[in-house]
Amino acid sequence: MMKNDTMVEVSNLHKVFGEDLHVLRGIDLEVKKGEVVVILGPSGSGKSTLLRCINFLEEPTAGTIRVGDITIGAGKKTKEHNAKILEIRRRVGMCFQSFNLFPHMTALENIIEGPVTVLGQSKKEAIPYAEELLAWVGLTDKRDEYPSRLSGGQQQRVAIARSLAMKPDVMLFDEPTSALDPELVKEVVDVMERLAAEGMTIIAVTHEMHFARDVADRVLIMDGGVWVESGPPEEIFTNPKEARSRQFLAHIL
Ligand code: ADP
Ligand code: MG
Repeated sequence: MMKNDTMVEVSNLHKVFGEDLHVLRGIDLEVKKGEVVVILGPSGSGKSTLLRCINFLEEPTAGTIRVGDITIGAGKKTKEHNAKILEIRRRVGMCFQSFNLFPHMTALENIIEGPVTVLGQSKKEAIPYAEELLAWVGLTDKRDEYPSRLSGGQQQRVAIARSLAMKPDVMLFDEPTSALDPELVKEVVDVMERLAAEGMTIIAVTHEMHFARDVADRVLIMDGGVWVESGPPEEIFTNPKEARSRQFLAHIL
């Protein structure tokens, strides 16, 4: 059932850690090209694990992941399987709560690292686009600074630029603003919002309400490794159907 406008399709995804920690319990998710999806849910419900399975930072225990025309089923350790994983990682950018920049590299060096080491570009080839991205996230003047000399918000914007340097088809965000001081949240959300406006397909775990309400096309609530409820933000936030959604939303709204 290949639908051309579907960018990401997760089917019957299960993840079990160790013997019996069954974290994801049959997750289905279809995200269209250019769609912005926000995932909410209590701590420990499996949100990060889902994102990590989509780009194979975690191997799914069962189920399939499709990104564009690449489909990978769980569990085969063949050469072909591994090659597909690399291809999916190239197409799926990820941005975490902790910015994970390379501390010994400047902002610019962080951004060209992927294009140079993974895509095999020369530094000279990689630099113009990296500079364009730095300008796009508003950090042209920080080009040659090391991460330790940047604020959290600036580091996160460099991290986003670093992901974008690989020209991903999809961006995953895992609580990208939750480690930031409140006054720095907006500059990162603004970048995410501009990315959405430019048509990027986005799957974001974020409790940033402006983004969830005004930017997301759809909000999904996860609990215990299953979806509790999903729908357009105006519906989820004003008229949640499930008791578990209401209970969770009461905590964050
Ligand atoms: P959320 O992001 O919704 O807070 P997580 O996906 O991080 O939830 O975690 C869901 C559950 O999976 C938690 O019980 C967590 O302890 C467990 N878990 C996550 N990653 C691992 C791992 N690598 N090994 C073992 N357990 C893990
Ligand atoms: Mg998490």
